[in-house]
Amino acid sequence: MPLDKVDLCELTWPELEKFVVETLCWKRFRAQQIWRWVWAGNVSDISSMTDLSLRDREQLAGSACIGRLRTADVRVSSDGTTKFLLQLGDGELIETVLIPSDAPQRPGDLTVRMTQCISTQVGCPMACSFCSTGKLGFRRNMTMGEIIGQVQAARAYLGDTRPERPIIRNLVYMGMGEPLLNLDAVLDSLKTLQHPHGLAFSPRRITVSTCGIQKGMREFGESGLAYLAVSLHAPNQQLREQLMPRASAWPLDELVASLEDYPLKARERITLEYLVIAGVNDQPEHVRQLARICSRLKAKLNLIPYNPTPGTAYRAPTPEELLRFEKALWQKDITAIVRKSKGQDIEAACGQLRAAHEAGVSRA
Ligand code: SF4
Repeated sequence: MPLDKVDLCELTWPELEKFVVETLCWKRFRAQQIWRWVWAGNVSDISSMTDLSLRDREQLAGSACIGRLRTADVRVSSDGTTKFLLQLGDGELIETVLIPSDAPQRPGDLTVRMTQCISTQVGCPMACSFCSTGKLGFRRNMTMGEIIGQVQAARAYLGDTRPERPIIRNLVYMGMGEPLLNLDAVLDSLKTLQHPHGLAFSPRRITVSTCGIQKGMREFGESGLAYLAVSLHAPNQQLREQLMPRASAWPLDELVASLEDYPLKARERITLEYLVIAGVNDQPEHVRQLARICSRLKAKLNLIPYNPTPGTAYRAPTPEELLRFEKALWQKDITAIVRKSKGQDIEAACGQLRAAHEAGVSRA
């Protein structure tokens, strides 16, 4: 990436308008043309902006470039889950996953509707004990362009060129990193994704997941730019300290009190994510504690069976253990829904593919 050039993927809408008027000395409305090519058109080269005259394209290319992410590895699971290892401009590697909403009709069928799980940081400072990304440690925050670059890389792979009929229907900020620790870039990315002249994502199709960070949660809620999911994973403070040592610095009681106050839209509910780890957080006392928490909140509970990662002593629940836990929750009037773990044959859990690459076991 030429250092003296502006990366168009890193400009917010007001910044692009300013660049067009002040640097290019063009009329303000022409920002729309560039924005459409960069986001809806997903072009990698300014020469592809064919509704700009040759002279204008040359002028633009003299001061700007389009920084796309390089795909370092792609793995496709037998269930259609597709995991990408992407390389950022400075060589750092991050992960993003496409999860099909329906079963693929045939091997390699990528025309079904997809949910994409995207990353917001390189590594993560939260050090959750069950997570491969937590073990990598924190390297740096991702920029706005890098966050949305994951969507653009997946769209290019899928041949998804029509934002009005997108294959990627839903986005979840649930990949590497803690989004609320990179709040400015996350908010900019949401505004850019939702801009009507670009990808025009609806805020109702985006969920941002936090492990429970005090600073920024209120600001995020008031932005109204996406739904909130909270990774709970433990229904009492002691267990949370063991599973999520950094997140537990904000005591569970205070986290729940703040969720009681969280600004929700009509009919909106907070999603509580609960990784079910056999013998650790799926016992009868945990059902009672979860019931107390859920009774205080407008929330739904997603149960995610643990996807074992190398180097941890945790075990995935058997189908019988999972069903027993789910039934016990329903008996307490908790709406608990089991979310299937997908892509287990391609190291789809957060951070696993990058860790495998670092260990030199790439199959690419
Ligand atoms: S689970 Fe999420 S918050 Fe915890 S270490 Fe992994 S990426 Fe970070």
